[in-house]
Amino acid sequence: MKKQNVPEIFGSLVFDDRVMRARLSGDVYASLKKTIDENVRLDEKIAEAVASEMRDWAVENGATHFTHWFQPLTGVTAEKHDSFITPSPDGGVIMEFSGKELIKGEPDASSFPSGGLRATFEARGYTTWDPTSFAFIKDHTLCIPTAFCSYSGDALDKKTPLLRSMQALNRQAKRILKLFGNEVKYVRTSVGPEQEYFLIDKDMFEKRPDLVYTGRTLFGAMPPKGQELDDHYFGVIKPRVTAFMEDLNEELWKLGILAKTEHNEVAPAQHELAPIFSTTNVATDNNQLTMEIMQKVARRHNMVCLLHEKPFAGVNGSGKHNNWSMATDTGANLLSPGETPYENAQFLLFLCAVIQAVDDYQDLLRLSVATAGNDHRLGANEAPPAIISVFLGDELTEILEAIKNDTPYKGAEKVIMKLGVHALPRFSRDTTDRNRTSPFAFTGNKFEFRSLGSSNSIACCNMMLNAAVAESLKQYADRLEGAPDFESSLHELIKEVINKHERILFNGNGYGEEWIEEATKVRGLSNLKTTADAMPHLLDKKNVEMLTAHKVFTETELNSRCEIMLENYCKTVSIEGHTMTDMARKNYLPSIEEYLSKLAKTTESIKAVAPNAKCSYEIGTIEKLSELTDIISEKTDILDKALDSLKECENIKKTSEAVRDDVLPKMDELRRYVDEAEMLTDEKYWPFPSYGKLLFSVY
Ligand code: ADP
Ligand code: MG
Repeated sequence: MKKQNVPEIFGSLVFDDRVMRARLSGDVYASLKKTIDENVRLDEKIAEAVASEMRDWAVENGATHFTHWFQPLTGVTAEKHDSFITPSPDGGVIMEFSGKELIKGEPDASSFPSGGLRATFEARGYTTWDPTSFAFIKDHTLCIPTAFCSYSGDALDKKTPLLRSMQALNRQAKRILKLFGNEVKYVRTSVGPEQEYFLIDKDMFEKRPDLVYTGRTLFGAMPPKGQELDDHYFGVIKPRVTAFMEDLNEELWKLGILAKTEHNEVAPAQHELAPIFSTTNVATDNNQLTMEIMQKVARRHNMVCLLHEKPFAGVNGSGKHNNWSMATDTGANLLSPGETPYENAQFLLFLCAVIQAVDDYQDLLRLSVATAGNDHRLGANEAPPAIISVFLGDELTEILEAIKNDTPYKGAEKVIMKLGVHALPRFSRDTTDRNRTSPFAFTGNKFEFRSLGSSNSIACCNMMLNAAVAESLKQYADRLEGAPDFESSLHELIKEVINKHERILFNGNGYGEEWIEEATKVRGLSNLKTTADAMPHLLDKKNVEMLTAHKVFTETELNSRCEIMLENYCKTVSIEGHTMTDMARKNYLPSIEEYLSKLAKTTESIKAVAPNAKCSYEIGTIEKLSELTDIISEKTDILDKALDSLKECENIKKTSEAVRDDVLPKMDELRRYVDEAEMLTDEKYWPFPSYGKLLFSVY
């Protein structure tokens, strides 16, 4: 066990509030702080002073370069390093960094996805400093979190719409709070993302082209043991993994990331890391960094960290739980039930806003987590179904029922529910029951959105969630602000929302077949099973109207995003398909052939020595494997054709449908026969490490 002085190293590579307060002049600090806390426009005059202190601090801490760090629509972060050096007249160099360089960058944007937003000749893109997320040092480079937009000002990244959605929610939530007599400086959403991942041995990883090219195994028969015994979940952490986690924590803490909980997950070789929650924008940046550093640290320990949603068939894949809430500048959590009736009424209204948002914009939430990788998990009885619903737990459900029916609430006190009336009972946070099958669950003082894939940026779901909740709140504020009798209007409103949106509430088993029936046939909830089904809904009229009204996106940006996400889906699957045909032709078929030939020769030599020997094992295996090689070869050709014909689709939506209906089923078919052959072939002849080796080789 390494000795670490955690408070000392925590945030040591971050230009955080402590550093700013210590190094910036009083005026500059106050002005910057106002921008950070209250979302006031940045006073550009302070940039020079901030840049100069940032540079000094960075250089003192070993940095030689700086970069505008941003999150293009590739899903990973991007950076281009510039050194601080400027030639000095004496032939040497000095370290320089100007306010202009801090505020604005002009990277060549032509190789980032833009979904038709920008012709390639308009290559220019801009990055602009996001002062609300602290700059930090990574690999001797000062990283400045930035937003990224095109020459025409359209957002080309995930941060910009996320920040806009936070502003939208802030605007509307403050209106509501004012009605309750609460004047606050701001309301922010907070997020704690629980991150799952796999760790496998690096040598094994490198032997598998499917893992190298696609991050997941495309073939592989199940080993005799998988996750049946539930012996891995919360199990004792293996020494090599412990060493990795120690190293990882240290790196994350230095970057000011609040890494808190770590444990083994359900599948063999699967683990989880959860930080303490923070403001959504910061949590998003931190989660991107966490994923990056996990991969880097794993390599150092001769392992590879797999962030793919479904690296192995037959055992659980990896997801991410987005714990989400809203809080005021004074730290009051708006989803905390509170102690007094009046707080309860306010809580119930915010609760209603979330319920309505999830119901009205199920499709947006679903598509915000849609990727080729995550399609393997949702609805596969290891993660929530593709149908979005809300779990409230018994207590809150009973309270809402009581309000809806004007009946006594049976819980604490037997009183008629009338909001704002003194008799409204107290209720405490519901901590007893949990429901792992629900996509969107209330967990005491926050909601947990559980449908995210492990490699997803959490920006996507949070921008949709924030915007949708802002829309509910806006409708409520519009109605209540002019109401002659606030309390009775509030009561009516809450009743109405419960009546209208109770179809989204479901406390039962989300994995059951009956739920799918009920949800889709009786309740009319949407069941968007794949990315190809979900993504086009981004452009549904109601969604475009809501997202543009709250200025989270422009219509142009939405069109481009839909295109990019579908393109990403098609390209991802297409790479997988090509990897499969490649592996089948170049590795699997030749290896099985070799084994067949060995068996044939063996049979011949046995018969030469013992002419009466039946050789039924050898001949039987030859017959079975030879039939399988024929089928594998045929299925490979069929998959190839399906991949080829994607080029003929007239648009990206059609291509994505062909991927879903034609390519993916053919990949499954090919895999089935290769996996069958694996079970019959001498391991010495099999070209790639087996599932057993991949899943159980790290100690
Ligand atoms: P559970 O065990 O119920 O999942 P935890 O308390 O361990 O809950 O929290 C899981 C995650 O939720 C952690 O990242 C935690 O920081 C985060 N979290 C807790 N409270 C909030 C909140 N008010 N807003 C957002 N995230 C929160
Ligand atoms: Mg949790």
